Amino acid sequence: MAADCLFCKIVAGEIPASIVYQDDRLVAFNDINPQAPLHALVVPRQHIASLNVLSVKDDELVGEMVRRAAAIAREKGYADGGFRTVFNTNADAGQTVFHIHLHLLAGRRFSWPPG
Ligand code: 5GP
Ligand code: ZN
Repeated sequence: MAADCLFCKIVAGEIPASIVYQDDRLVAFNDINPQAPLHALVVPRQHIASLNVLSVKDDELVGEMVRRAAAIAREKGYADGGFRTVFNTNADAGQTVFHIHLHLLAGRRFSWPPG
C-alpha cells in the first residue's frame, strides 16, 4: 500500500466505495463522478502508479483487469450494445489518481475521437 494513495485506501476498505466486484487481486467500484449510466473503475489491489511503470510481471494482472471490465459490462447488459474502456496516463490524458485504474463506461453513445 502506498502512503496517501486514494485507491489503496479504497482497496483496504479505509475509504468507502460502491463495490461492484472484488477478488484477491482486483477491486471494481463505481466512480464517484460518473460520466455514463455505468462508470466503474477496475483497480489492482497492488499499487502501480501508472502504465509508465508496468513491467512484464504485470501482464497477467492487466489482462485480468481488461477481462474483468468486459465481464462487468456483460453482467450489466452492455456487452452487445457496447462499452468504452480507458486508461488515462499522466497530465495530458487527465490522470488524477496515480494508482492504475481501468475506466469502464457504458449506457450511452461515446464519440470518437475523445475530447
Ligand atoms: P483519472 O482522472 O485518474 O483517470 O480517474 C480518476 C477517477 O477517480 C475519476 O473519474 C474520479 O471521478 C474518480 N474518483 C476520484 N475520487 C474518488 C473517490 O473518492 N471515490 C470514487 N469512487 N471515485 C473517485
Ligand atoms: Zn495505490
